Amino acid sequence: MSGQNIKLVVALALLGASGALFVRWLTAPRDDGEDLPEGIFWICRNPDCGHEFNTSLKQTKEQLNADGRVPCPKCDQRLTTLGFACPHCKRVYEPEGHGTTPEFCPHCKERLSVRGP
Ligand SMILES: [Zn+2]
Ligand SMILES: [Zn+2]
Repeated sequence: MSGQNIKLVVALALLGASGALFVRWLTAPRDDGEDLPEGIFWICRNPDCGHEFNTSLKQTKEQLNADGRVPCPKCDQRLTTLGFACPHCKRVYEPEGHGTTPEFCPHCKERLSVRGP
């Protein structure tokens, strides 16, 4: 692949990522967000599990605890954390502090955020 092709691929990936992030931002859970077709994404932090799943808004409301977590459907522990779906590989990744997007997807290594060079 020539250098120019690589640049094109990166540009397309950036466009895709920022578009998806923008949509995600628009549909981010708010006080009573209603229109979340994909629901809310979660990652289980149990080191033996690591399950990625999503719940509908209704399910989330039913299952959410005071600590703001839903139980993992696989191991039933409440070690879950909110995640986002990678627009490239559709897997769930964990945001960094303050809900910011990591620069690269931990699964497929595609660029997720537009910061950095
Ligand atoms: Zn689990
Ligand atoms: Zn990915």
